[in-house]
Amino acid sequence: MKLAGWGQYPIVEAEVVAPHSVEELLERIQLGHAIARGNGRAYGDSAISSSNTIEMKNFNRMLAFDPITGQLVAQAGVLLADVIETFLPKGWFPSVTPGTKFVTIGGMVAADVHGKNHHKHGSFGNFVDWIDLITADGKVNRCSPEQDPELFNWTIGGMGLTGIVLTIAFRLTPISTSLIKQKTIPASNVVHAIEIFESMLDVTYSVAWIDCLSRGKNLGRSLVMVGEHAEIADLSEGLKSNPLQSPKKNKITVPFYFPSFALNGLTVRLFNFLYYWIGKRRAKSSLMNWDTYFYPLDSILGWNKIYGRSGFAQFQCVIPLLHASIGIKELLQAISDANAGSFLAVLKRFGEQDSRFSFPMAGYTLALDFPITQKNLTLMSELDMITIKYGGRFYLAKDSRMTASTFKQSEPRLAQFKNFQLQRETNQGLYSEQAKRLDL
Ligand SMILES: Cc1cc2nc3c(=O)[nH]c(=O)nc-3n(C[C@H](O)[C@H](O)[C@H](O)COP(=O)(O)OP(=O)(O)OC[C@H]3O[C@@H](n4cnc5c(N)ncnc54)[C@H](O)[C@@H]3O)c2cc1C
Repeated sequence: MKLAGWGQYPIVEAEVVAPHSVEELLERIQLGHAIARGNGRAYGDSAISSSNTIEMKNFNRMLAFDPITGQLVAQAGVLLADVIETFLPKGWFPSVTPGTKFVTIGGMVAADVHGKNHHKHGSFGNFVDWIDLITADGKVNRCSPEQDPELFNWTIGGMGLTGIVLTIAFRLTPISTSLIKQKTIPASNVVHAIEIFESMLDVTYSVAWIDCLSRGKNLGRSLVMVGEHAEIADLSEGLKSNPLQSPKKNKITVPFYFPSFALNGLTVRLFNFLYYWIGKRRAKSSLMNWDTYFYPLDSILGWNKIYGRSGFAQFQCVIPLLHASIGIKELLQAISDANAGSFLAVLKRFGEQDSRFSFPMAGYTLALDFPITQKNLTLMSELDMITIKYGGRFYLAKDSRMTASTFKQSEPRLAQFKNFQLQRETNQGLYSEQAKRLDL
């Protein structure tokens, strides 16, 4: 079948199976060239092996929950959306969440996902207690920070290339209400936005949306959105009686691929202009439900079709703190000069991250979507070089088009990762189209 990631690029002819039992799973992995696939929300080809893609959707049971520690033991194919639906009404929320809830827990481990609270709490791996992993030799291995820590550390952020995650024990965070106290702060340019982030490091959640077509002294003008879980005392009397309720949200479905002319420089410019000015006028503190705050795009099902049949790519890099201001400015300048703005341009502050093969490092991460055109592919290669110049690196879960040489220049940990794979003999048994492209 034809298979792609969320960006619908590249599209690969692939053999896909969805085993129902651990025995079936073991048989498949021993055939070699295997890769696990969660819910296909990585943008590119990381969850695709042309000869042996293994869908984990049938491993979707939550197995145990400890109401004292918040530890949930779940199979890898469980969707984060189902975890929230089950545990939010009981006063628990994911400790780290990406910008969509339609990801599997296995996919969250493999990409070591980050959220709007990375500067404070780090990435998802910080909340994982142990993992059961099937390695290429067909063995089920329990690993944790104490038990086979090497395997554990390379698996978190290892993009499925150390084995297939079967079961995960991870900790949820207690909450008193389902609402977020949020505040929007307009920033006149990117340097101002960074000043706002730096002055608010003790706030739990922060993210900025950038008008990436702004220029000159307005380059990178943005709306910085900060938030905290609301306490009962923050709620109106009416809401206090049911503080953990979730509103029913209407979902819109994008029924077909938009034609390519629908998304042109003019529509992107208009969107960026209106989003900034409307956001600026409405900038104030408010209570927002968790779904709108964390997952605004999830209410438009199939929004990836808006970019048309040719698909789209996301460029996401992180620039270390020391060079963040100058590096992010140079990236935005290149995008603005190319007149290649994007609907979604997001800036986040990352905190310290230890040495595993994960994307974050202390610094600023910029993420932008671009429709696939030759012009945008050229621009993204230019953005790659700017990132490397400032000592930054790239997020594999978003990558669909980088070259092996670019990746190698950005990733000093690559040799160590490959050594580990050689030692454990996973380098032959596990395989993704991305790993082949990047010589991972
Ligand atoms: C709208 C949107 C917003 C996003 N926002 C963020 C964000 O804010 N922060 C962030 O960090 N990420 C973000 N992402 C990326 C997303 O969180 C990751 O790509 C995540 O890995 C997707 O999970 P999945 O279950 O769909 O995995 P897939 O896309 O199916 O797979 C992703 C990787 O995980 C591996 N994998 C999946 N299941 C297993 C398993 N059981 N065992 C071993 N390996 C496995 C695959 O081999 C592949 O390498 C976003 C994606 C979208 C579409």
